[in-house]
Amino acid sequence: VDTGATKFCKHCGEKIHIDAVICSKCGLQVEELKGSQTQPTIIVNNQNNVNGSGQSSTQKSKITALLLCFFLGVLGAHKFYEGKIGLGVLYFFTWGLFGIGVLIDFITLIFKPDPYYV
Ligand SMILES: [Zn+2]
Repeated sequence: VDTGATKFCKHCGEKIHIDAVICSKCGLQVEELKGSQTQPTIIVNNQNNVNGSGQSSTQKSKITALLLCFFLGVLGAHKFYEGKIGLGVLYFFTWGLFGIGVLIDFITLIFKPDPYYV
């Protein structure tokens, strides 16, 4: 029984269901998604973006970084741990920027939360 709840695809002219967003024949989009459906999605996406920025930065253990910095800092171990390979190599060849970089990093690490994000 045809209830009349149909429309015609604006791309191919196929008779499709009134609520159809994608034409069942040609597969093209015939309706914009309703605002009432889209807006919550945007909010969710924004929340995901906030979370995403948290996920893009890596969670690191403060204690591990402090220990690495203290014992192996002149080899750049804590920089490698934080994923900063370039700085790690630099530290490795300069004895942690002649100890100054390691000292600054150690003090900086002390004031960081646990875990911290890089
Ligand atoms: Zn179509």
